[in-house]
Amino acid sequence: MTQRPLELEGDALAEATRACVAFVRDHVASLASQPSCDLDGADALAATFREPLPEHGAPLDTLLSRLGAAIAKSFNTAGPGYLAFIPGGGVPAAALADYVALSTNRYVGVSKAAPALAQIERTAVRWLADEMGLPATARGVLTSGGSMSNFVALVTARTERLPEDFLRGTIYTSDETHLSIAKAARFAGFPAKNVRSVAVDAKLRLDTRALAERVADDRAAGFAPFMVVANVGTTSTGAVDPLPAILDVAARERLWVHADAAYGGFFRMTPGGEGLMPGIDRCDSITLDPHKGLFLPYGTGCLLVRDGDALARAHRGDAAYLADVSSIDGEPDFTDLSPELSRDFRGLRLWLPFMIHGARAFREQLAEKLRLARVAYDALAADARFWTLEEPQLSVVAFRLRAPSGATDADALNAELLRRVNARGRVFLSSTILERKLTLRICVLSFRTHEDRIADAVGALREEATALLAR
Ligand SMILES: *Cc1c(COP(=O)(O)O)cnc(C)c1O
Repeated sequence: MTQRPLELEGDALAEATRACVAFVRDHVASLASQPSCDLDGADALAATFREPLPEHGAPLDTLLSRLGAAIAKSFNTAGPGYLAFIPGGGVPAAALADYVALSTNRYVGVSKAAPALAQIERTAVRWLADEMGLPATARGVLTSGGSMSNFVALVTARTERLPEDFLRGTIYTSDETHLSIAKAARFAGFPAKNVRSVAVDAKLRLDTRALAERVADDRAAGFAPFMVVANVGTTSTGAVDPLPAILDVAARERLWVHADAAYGGFFRMTPGGEGLMPGIDRCDSITLDPHKGLFLPYGTGCLLVRDGDALARAHRGDAAYLADVSSIDGEPDFTDLSPELSRDFRGLRLWLPFMIHGARAFREQLAEKLRLARVAYDALAADARFWTLEEPQLSVVAFRLRAPSGATDADALNAELLRRVNARGRVFLSSTILERKLTLRICVLSFRTHEDRIADAVGALREEATALLAR
């Protein structure tokens, strides 16, 4: 046995790293030619990974080749054809950040353990707060994703606005809101019925008159309305709720306004982006997902809170074993702002890509995505065989193939269209339900998606529509 069995020293570390570099280089270089989805035989392959804990190690090369085969059998979420759900892509600079962060393994949960590194993360969060137009009082924290950010926001709002005995508290949000809000309410201890579902208008935006009525009714019935969750880009269609009108209702009713901008918030970084979501700078809290709109790899969410002290009041705790590392400069530690204590150095994953590429590269990418969604929308809206939702508010295009008169099952027709387009392997789309009808959607949000791939998507939809309607 070697003296230091878990250490990769000197040449061994360099060699292992080189093997991983070669693996990643080949993978990234072939992304555009890889199928947009390939699940043929994926279940059988998955079964080969049901295995006992090995007592002895195996060579890295062998393991990388097993991994390569597993990666191939999946949705190609990093490729240019991924237009399903909410893409992002995963910029390589973030992987470099993780390599350095995980290899140096410094502790940022408390600032005293690595003051400059904690400051890097604080600075990165500050950049995002600035981009959203929040004041200097704002604080924030990087989370594992939007679901966790929404949870932290909900607990903060509850702590600020309700007594410890909070079961009369009610939360308002539209029918189109992400499922993570209902989950967050459940984790925070609210019965499901305390989340009030408010109707939407024809553009699928929260109806503020319905909101005001529901809040008034609830108050009259003895409930304690305390929070409204506004969507800045719903997952299904990219709808942006009318924040200024919601803020007016909230000011009258003393509601905490949380903007779920997990998908849409970063479009504010584009030229003219303020106009896409007026009022977001006045919200009490904002969820952002850098692993969507900043194209970072999965695992990076963010919560910003306008009154940073509120975030600290909801999360600060004391323990004798942490006395040695109590905050050095009066600034709250990350552990004072979130449920976590030990965690990865997520800040570097945000800081390094911005420092390497500059913010402008991100702004340009985001602006291109808005433009590409417009291109896809214009092409489908010009084709009478398709029904389209109104022009995209952000970068999601929702549409259906109209069933020919006589044929009743429009859902089956659209499901078959989706299946055929995806089976071609160039693009990968997903569906949602609008007006109880199966509706297809194109979501443009990968930094690797450009005009050629949008042309492929539209071309495939048209050709398969022709084939389907000729059956
Ligand atoms: C993606 C998304 C979430 C959930 O975020 P995760 O990072 O997947 O946990 C919440 N709200 C909206 C609007 C989203 O698009």
